[in-house]
Amino acid sequence: MDLVAPVVVEPLRRRRCSECRRGPLERMIVEYGRPVCLDCADLGHLVFLRRGDTALTRRARERSALWAVVVRHNRRRTRYERQGLLVEEAALARAEEACLADAEARARRRARDAERRAVRDAGITEALRAEILLLFPAMPPERAAEIAAHASAKGSGRVGRTAAGRALDRGAVTAAVRASVRHVDTPYDSLLMSGVPRHQARTRVGPAIDTVLRTWRADTRTRPA
Ligand SMILES: [Zn+2]
Repeated sequence: MDLVAPVVVEPLRRRRCSECRRGPLERMIVEYGRPVCLDCADLGHLVFLRRGDTALTRRARERSALWAVVVRHNRRRTRYERQGLLVEEAALARAEEACLADAEARARRRARDAERRAVRDAGITEALRAEILLLFPAMPPERAAEIAAHASAKGSGRVGRTAAGRALDRGAVTAAVRASVRHVDTPYDSLLMSGVPRHQARTRVGPAIDTVLRTWRADTRTRPA
């Protein structure tokens, strides 16, 4: 395909058009060994599109009735290297629109994916809430919902987000409930704030936590094992 397209050269030396004498030329074609400016070569209406955006380049080329390859000689490598294309301005505009539409389509897909993830998260939260209430039937339901939401919070790495949480491992669920009780129903946080070492504070609030959990487990014995 490139073989049939005109080749436009970015000259390394100062060159003048052999027809209209304008110069120095930024870009030119070579006809019978002589430089010709783009206007004289009837390529003056094309716009330069630097290489780099593959999709945009392909689309602009496909939409251009006339286009040209722009090359520059690399002395060190002793070869011509492609710099980009000259394409029709309207074709470039339409190509840019198409790429933009693609970007918008991708954004819409990302939004749909996020929505699906949110639904999945809600599923984890709901399963966790049900499991908490199964283990602690006398717990206030809104408290179970609160603990489940906190434990399955997105990206938190808490129990609800871990593999153990997904499998609804009883030990992990109980640990999440214990942590909540420790912070909400005991003076644990203020003990920490007053400089009591963490393990000491935990030991001190342990019995209080056990009491709360026992209360919440209350009617477990009446349920079938
Ligand atoms: Zn000219």
